Amino acid sequence: MMNLSTVIACGCRYRTPPINQLLNYTPFLHLHLHLQGRPPSFNNLNLPNFNLLPTGNCLFFRMERFWSGSGINKNKQMVEHLQRYGVISSMKVAEVMETIDRAIFVPDGTSAYVDSPMPIGYNATISAPHMHATCLQLLEENLQPGMHALDVGSGTGYLTACFAIMVGPQGRAVGVEHIPELVASSIKNIEKSAAATLLKEGSLSLHAGDGRQGWPECAPYDAIHVGAAAPEIPQPLIDQLKPGGRMVIPVGNMFQDLKVVDKNPDGSISIRSETSVRYVPLTSRDAQLRGY
Ligand code: SAH
Repeated sequence: MMNLSTVIACGCRYRTPPINQLLNYTPFLHLHLHLQGRPPSFNNLNLPNFNLLPTGNCLFFRMERFWSGSGINKNKQMVEHLQRYGVISSMKVAEVMETIDRAIFVPDGTSAYVDSPMPIGYNATISAPHMHATCLQLLEENLQPGMHALDVGSGTGYLTACFAIMVGPQGRAVGVEHIPELVASSIKNIEKSAAATLLKEGSLSLHAGDGRQGWPECAPYDAIHVGAAAPEIPQPLIDQLKPGGRMVIPVGNMFQDLKVVDKNPDGSISIRSETSVRYVPLTSRDAQLRGY
């Protein structure tokens, strides 16, 4: 059962729906604000209570989970669910999420199509499908063929692969991830995916590094996605955004908002909050491996 006091205690009441509406959603909603302990590693995947996972999940009824996943065993059906629930309205985003099969990116033995983040080891997770869809949609105009996209905290490589398909062979999609083992496994994932050719031909690349510094070699970017929550927006990422470019970044510590940062043609910055979310921190590698 959902704990309503937690909803109120988290300070985002303005986002919560009427209580009767919340109660209708309780089968899918279990709100926990506590970080869980160290997620299991790949080698010892002892499946946790996914509702405790902090990363890549919106808060509250609209967000926590759109379906339980028991009947979802196909990538296309997952996308259709996201469309039915109104998360995906763009055909382009539906197409790319159909093209990049999520099952390739989740650890073996994990339910690929459940609407929940999943542990990928190293205290990291692959974000929930609805968060991937939300971010792709927010960035769609900045992921046109030929454009440059940066994915900070690329993890499994799922979104970087989606970006690469959208910007195409004339564009550039760059993933930066600070756990080298995750970079290596993301490359293996992408090699099995529909984005393999783009990786081979060089319009898609994945790098080990501190994503708070961005990736200056391929800047400026039309689109920047950050897959971990920053206490504040890193200046190098703002600097590497092209005028007319857009960044989507979770900002905050305990309470986080998904911010949409637009760099206007004159170089000024506009920022708005899209929704409340819960992501793992954008931090140092040591802090992450220590468990934050
Ligand atoms: N969006 C990815 C991963 C989300 S989890 C996916 O869905 O697969 C957030 C990722 O950010 C983790 O893989 C974590 O290792 C990475 N991360 C955290 N801080 C970072 C930093 N300073 N630089 C680069 N990557 C970072």
